[in-house]
Amino acid sequence: MTRTLTCIICPRGCTLQAEINGDSVSVSGNACKRGEEYGRSECLHPVRTVTAVIRVENRPDCALSVKTAQPIAKEHIFDLMAVLRGMTVKAPVAIGEVICDNIYGTQVIATGSVE
Ligand code: SF4
Repeated sequence: MTRTLTCIICPRGCTLQAEINGDSVSVSGNACKRGEEYGRSECLHPVRTVTAVIRVENRPDCALSVKTAQPIAKEHIFDLMAVLRGMTVKAPVAIGEVICDNIYGTQVIATGSVE
């Protein structure tokens, strides 16, 4: 089976052709090694870094931006978003602070600060 993918690793957006034979994936169309790795991963075990905002319980006028420290499996994204939607933090929060530890194999960290 052949899949056509757009590499999302950098803004160049190369069009990749991935030839899938069981657990073996052969990638072409990539301008660099990272595209080959992306194409293989996307066919066998797609992952994404998740970004979101969560409520700040003592600052209803603002929200805290967060992201996963590592990409997580695509099939867990909606479950993670549901968890984050139900979460609140209390200000102050500093950029880089761990908001949630060990969820779907990663941490969720603050990408902004709230005083
Ligand atoms: S293959 Fe390389 S150059 Fe092309 S979009 Fe992916 S990362 Fe960028």
